Amino acid sequence: MTISDRLVRDTYGLYIGGKWMSAVDGEHLLTINPATEKPLAEVAAAQATDVDRAVEVAREAYPAWRDTSPDERGRIIYRIGQLIREYGDELAALESLDQGKPLSQAESDIESAARYFEYYAGAADKVEGRSIPVGSKQVDFTVREPYGVSVQITPWNFPANLFARGVAPALVAGNTTVIKPAEQTPLSTLRLAEICAEAGIPDGVVNVVTGFGKPTGSALTSHPDVDTITFTGSVPTGQAIMKQAANNVTPVTLELGGKNPAIVFPDADLDKTTNWIARAIFTNSGQVCSAADRVVIHEDVHDEFVSRFVDCAESYEIGPGAQDLDMGPLASADQLEKVLRYIEIGHKEGATLATGGNALDRDGFFVEPTVFTDVENDMRIAQEEIFGPVLTVIPFTTESEALEIANDVEYGLVSGIFTDDIKRAHRFAQRLEAGNVYINKWFGDTNQTPFGGYKKSGIGREKGLDALESYLQTKNIAVNI
Ligand code: NAD
Repeated sequence: MTISDRLVRDTYGLYIGGKWMSAVDGEHLLTINPATEKPLAEVAAAQATDVDRAVEVAREAYPAWRDTSPDERGRIIYRIGQLIREYGDELAALESLDQGKPLSQAESDIESAARYFEYYAGAADKVEGRSIPVGSKQVDFTVREPYGVSVQITPWNFPANLFARGVAPALVAGNTTVIKPAEQTPLSTLRLAEICAEAGIPDGVVNVVTGFGKPTGSALTSHPDVDTITFTGSVPTGQAIMKQAANNVTPVTLELGGKNPAIVFPDADLDKTTNWIARAIFTNSGQVCSAADRVVIHEDVHDEFVSRFVDCAESYEIGPGAQDLDMGPLASADQLEKVLRYIEIGHKEGATLATGGNALDRDGFFVEPTVFTDVENDMRIAQEEIFGPVLTVIPFTTESEALEIANDVEYGLVSGIFTDDIKRAHRFAQRLEAGNVYINKWFGDTNQTPFGGYKKSGIGREKGLDALESYLQTKNIAVNI
């Protein structure tokens, strides 16, 4: 029996009010295995009427969930984390099958998803207000209240993990949720909704509407009865969502793309730096918002780094996620086409292809680890998010030049610096225009630390206690005494 036979059902409905339902007009989409290009399952494609139904159910479930005692909410949410661990092998295999990533990377995503629920469970009974002294005739104090119905719209690169990153703090704060996973990778989200119910989440508190950006996503983000929206995805979609949400003045948290520089100085340990950067650009086939896709490297170590990095890239073994090699396929045919288009653009712009550059001649959306040198920072391959295993290498001479190149993009998600000079590292950390800065490392963030973007990379923060800000509003109560 194959993994696919055991894990994947033939058809999936919408998960609304604790029940499976078909879309009102029977519309569906196919989710594809990116390693074989074969359909995995038929999944309901929600229309605006289905979205109305999900929001209505979430609204009805809200008062009881809000009024559930914080410690009870915390216990249920902790139990979700434990069940995710219990079903960890199944969830990781499902994710790897639907999204394409190597099994061990999927396992690590699932472990982190469990941690989100465990971490936020502990915050359930620690949501507190303040008392504010305003004089002897009045007592003022604040309370922090949930918004009501929250919406999470997630992309296809980390479906299960991003479900947990949004849903756990939303629930802990007392909101109900309607989640729309990406149309390319809905399966782990649907399974996680069932797991939430098994942990004791009441019907209607966690609902999933599968479907396309339009009409499903846009019906959610323009819905007048949605109280807060968390979106993770691309800048153009984030901009569209802001506009849709503006009509109802619905608050939005946006976690968008990046074009993240890794700045390498001659005093960096080149062996370690090569390994960090390989991990930072080839994990999940480069389909990571915080991937290090621009190496800004001092001219003295440029050639040595490129030679080591090309050897490293050429040693990568590529294959289906289930084989758990170094790199899997890209997640969809569209993504493969986009990455190959950018490789073509790199050629046309005059960059030098140091290695890779081709799709693999086999079924599945596989592309070689690719490195471009002689890249100038104003080229499109240095400015636009490729979202694939494509590294661009840009040389620099002076420290100020390095900083200027690093910051000269419209994104500001993550930046990194590799150096043994502690003072320089701190100087850069302060001047880099990014919500997250790595020094002599990349990835491996814990769930406790805030994550989010400067500039066009987003609004608000997810992860850590900062994420609760997106799910709680403050009320001041003034008492005349
Ligand atoms: P996308 O913007 O195309 O889609 C994301 C989600 O939005 C999908 O569920 C899609 O169906 C939905 N959507 C599309 N149009 C919509 C609309 N008009 N209204 C409402 N919803 C709509 O992004 P993608 O290609 O799935 O994901 C890749 C992007 O996500 C990259 O830019 C990446 O950097 C970003 N990302 C950011 C983070 C972060 O934490 N900052 C994490 C992961 C991915």
